[in-house]
Amino acid sequence: MTSYKELGLVNTREMFAKAVAGGYAIPAFNFNTLEQMQAIIQAAVETKSPVIMQVSKGARNYANGTILRYMAQGAVEYAKELGCEKPQIVLHLDHGDTFELCKDCIDNGFSSVMIDGSSLPYEENIALTKKVVEYAHKFDVTVEAELGVLAGVEDEVASEVSHYTKPEEVVDFSTRSGCDSLAISIGTSHGAYKFTPEQCTRDPKTGKLVPPPLAFDILHEIEKKLPGFPIVLHGSSSVPQEEVDTINAHGGKLPDAVGIPEEQLREASKSAVCKINIDSDSRLAMTAAIRKHFDEKPGDFDPRQYLKPARENMKKMYIHKIVEVLGSNDKL
Ligand SMILES: [Zn+2]
Repeated sequence: MTSYKELGLVNTREMFAKAVAGGYAIPAFNFNTLEQMQAIIQAAVETKSPVIMQVSKGARNYANGTILRYMAQGAVEYAKELGCEKPQIVLHLDHGDTFELCKDCIDNGFSSVMIDGSSLPYEENIALTKKVVEYAHKFDVTVEAELGVLAGVEDEVASEVSHYTKPEEVVDFSTRSGCDSLAISIGTSHGAYKFTPEQCTRDPKTGKLVPPPLAFDILHEIEKKLPGFPIVLHGSSSVPQEEVDTINAHGGKLPDAVGIPEEQLREASKSAVCKINIDSDSRLAMTAAIRKHFDEKPGDFDPRQYLKPARENMKKMYIHKIVEVLGSNDKL
């Protein structure tokens, strides 16, 4: 058993309480590689922001759980080395799907886990979440649950609505499951193709796709029912057009990729939404820089030559999100 406290990490409890009260949101950036980790920590230290480093089950399989644990510990020490006296860094499991996986993460240095029972029937979701919460709280690890299903890229518009979180369920769910935060579905979506062109309208001036707006009415209803309770948004990359354009201009093929407009995320950050998950934007920033580099310097073959600009580009994106969208800067 390795407690996250030994690694210098923190759980989300105090961080979320401050974020809800202060009207900002904590960035939750997914990572699998050294360069992503370095960029996340550099951005968090430079902006004086708390940060959640999160790994999915797939990332854990890719990078190895033991290595990730030491990377998180390394992240804390690196932040201190960069001049941050008291870094506020969470190591979080994104989309845990079984009790066993959550337990394994809790036993191996994670300070926060998500148990995603959103695809299960309501009562089973509560039972599974409760089981994880009971174990996690013994070790002061915080638990994120999910209620409502995020629309997938292939979902029809008509079926999307029935997947939104039902505000009438949130009090019962959070009370009975004991979760510390709740991921809700109000129209965000996973991936770089969050909406099909049919779900969007086209801006007549630019020809660009405009996605359907988030369901702020549902968010506000949930806030009224659970005052001050930490709410989480998944699938909240904005899919920056300039990165998509760079990728496509240098041999990539991402037609009509579309994300969540930053104005809407900015508005959500001011509400009870206190954690916003961003993964695709980091992938796009990394890929755009690498494609551009390969195209412009075909003779380069030292990974440092192309991973350095990739790291710089991700860092720029992380800083932009922290300062211009989430407002979590200057909070340490
Ligand atoms: Zn997610």
